Amino acid sequence: MADIIIIGAGTAGLTAAIYAKRAGMEAVVFESDSYGGQIINTPEIENYPGIKNVSGFEFATSLYEQAVSLGARVEFDKIVSIEGTYETGFTVKGEYGTTETGKCIIIAAGARNRHMGIAGEEKFEGRGISYCATCDGSFFKGKTTAVVGGGNTALEDAVYLSDLCEKVYIIHRRDEYRADAAQVELLRSRDNIEEVLSYVVKDLKGEDRLEGLVLESRKDGSLREIGVDGVFVAIGQIPSSDLYKGLVDMDESGYIVAGEDCHTGTAGIFAAGDIRTKKVRQLTTAASDGAVAALAACDLIRSSKKDQ
Ligand code: NDP
Repeated sequence: MADIIIIGAGTAGLTAAIYAKRAGMEAVVFESDSYGGQIINTPEIENYPGIKNVSGFEFATSLYEQAVSLGARVEFDKIVSIEGTYETGFTVKGEYGTTETGKCIIIAAGARNRHMGIAGEEKFEGRGISYCATCDGSFFKGKTTAVVGGGNTALEDAVYLSDLCEKVYIIHRRDEYRADAAQVELLRSRDNIEEVLSYVVKDLKGEDRLEGLVLESRKDGSLREIGVDGVFVAIGQIPSSDLYKGLVDMDESGYIVAGEDCHTGTAGIFAAGDIRTKKVRQLTTAASDGAVAALAACDLIRSSKKDQ
């Protein structure tokens, strides 16, 4: 039986694995996709303490290699069921048949991209609509693109695309951005970015590929049409928490409720990173959660041993 099963090989999950291994515990990480989580698609990280500048890919790869070199086992399989309790041990099963038992579980499954929810969005995905500027931006060299959203991701994407594209629109539903002031300043320093504020995307134009957007003003309902070759949707995330319904408490948005020690209300199950209820979702707080959850799980396992 493993000591700790970690679900998700993003920043929180891999940090948890590093701390668990260094505490002498057996840690198994399950990942349904590639390692790294959301940060792998970030072009540049400039706010991780101690690292001046690094690409998301480099950061994630280094974190993964660090966890593996310390002895963490990583299984690339999607967990489809969790059974048991802290008293009996937990058994998890993967889509491809991997089965593992463990004393504690750390859920670090993160969040996935929110979609706009408008007609044609699925049809145009990969044909002009993308949720990852770093992955797909190079397909739009010299072209016109739009970014939807007003958070740090959207503004970072717009700046990134402004280096590749002839013109970039940033479309945000309010007059004020949610992104940090420094990011707004950087956006406004780029001549080829046009801000379209207080507008939402109402309709998508095109036959086989996306050719344009119909935008609706949130102030007076008026419509405006713009021609674009591509649109990058960056309107936040939805926690990947469906599997854990009934197992742990969640808030109304599906984030797992856990205290500062990352312990959920269910004994032996911890939540770390973007999937947990909290105010600040950053790389640093994901790493912090990973460390806190792993050490809390180690404490629980050790105190249970003492009681036996
Ligand atoms: P956020 O939740 O911060 O922003 C989402 C944006 O999308 C908001 O501006 C929101 O508008 C808008 N939005 C949400 N739903 C819709 C909708 N249905 N239609 C139109 N617009 C919509 O998400 P991010 O992905 O930008 O960031 C997530 C977290 O990661 C944040 O904490 C962010 O600070 C952090 N981050 C940090 C980075 C860094 O430090 N380098 C880089 C990237 C992200 P409204 O503002 O009106 O709610």
